[in-house]
Amino acid sequence: MADTIFGRIIRREIPARVVHEDELCLAFHDVAPQAPVHVLVIPKRPIVSLADVTSDDSPLLGHLVTVASTLARTLGLADGFRLVVNCGRDGGQSVDHLHVHLLGGRRLGWPPG
Ligand code: AMP
Repeated sequence: MADTIFGRIIRREIPARVVHEDELCLAFHDVAPQAPVHVLVIPKRPIVSLADVTSDDSPLLGHLVTVASTLARTLGLADGFRLVVNCGRDGGQSVDHLHVHLLGGRRLGWPPG
């Protein structure tokens, strides 16, 4: 896959407000937050999108969701939160490196636009 801005963040070539890092993933604040808390959880392995995963990726995907849930707790989202994975053009994905949005801190609307 082509390198992306998230690859550059993983390699620390550009700055990000990192809130979690482990051997599998990195989490950092979104640069254009859509809610009081808006964090992105990304795998260090550069998977393009949710359309590209296989069953081999199940443990990694579970890890991303578990990290997001833990961050929701540590970032004070006791009243609830939302995880979003945009996929492909129609899904609104703008960075071709799989990422989970963690959104919270306000009442979120539904359905999405
Ligand atoms: P998506 O539209 O689902 O692909 O989400 C990509 C997200 O990446 C958007 O919410 C952007 O605001 C965010 N983003 C883009 N560049 C950066 C950056 N350098 N640091 C943090 N977040 C970024």
